[in-house]
Amino acid sequence: MANLKIGGMILRSLFKKPATQMYPVIPKEWKERTRGRIEIDIDDCIFCGICARKCPTDAITVNRTAKTWTIERMGCVQCSCCVDVCPKSCLNNVAGYTSPDVVKIVDTFTKAEETPQVEEALKSDAVSVPEATGAE
Ligand code: SF4
Ligand code: SF4
Repeated sequence: MANLKIGGMILRSLFKKPATQMYPVIPKEWKERTRGRIEIDIDDCIFCGICARKCPTDAITVNRTAKTWTIERMGCVQCSCCVDVCPKSCLNNVAGYTSPDVVKIVDTFTKAEETPQVEEALKSDAVSVPEATGAE
C-alpha cells in the first residue's frame, strides 16, 4: 500500500511544474513592493544627515565635507525609515537585493563636484545644465 502511495507521488511529481526556480539561469521577478535595497539619487542629496540619524541600525554615514553618502548593506534592515524622512526624496527602497558576498558590503556614493563656471551658470540661470550622471 505504501509503495503504491509513493509511486503515485513520484508520478505526480514527474508531471508537475517544479516548485523551485532555476536561479540564476532564470532571473528572479521581483514583486512591485519588494523591499530590496536602498538606492540614492546622490545629485539631489543635500547631506543634511537626517537619514543617518533616523536609521535604527546606524547603517548610513553622511559626510557633508566630502559630499559622500555611505550605506553598510548588511546593516540595513530595509525598514525604509530613511526613505520616509529624506527631505529631498532622493532615497528609494528598490526591488532586488544586493549580490551576496563573503565580506560586508559598504557602498559609498559621492556627489560630483560642480565647476565654478557651472555653479555660476546655475546661479544666473543663464544656461541649462545637463543632469550629472551621479554616483559611482
Ligand atoms: S536625508 Fe536625504 S538629503 Fe539628507 S543626507 Fe539623507 S539622503 Fe541626503
Ligand atoms: S532602510 Fe532602515 S535600516 Fe536601511 S538604511 Fe534606511 S533607515 Fe537604515
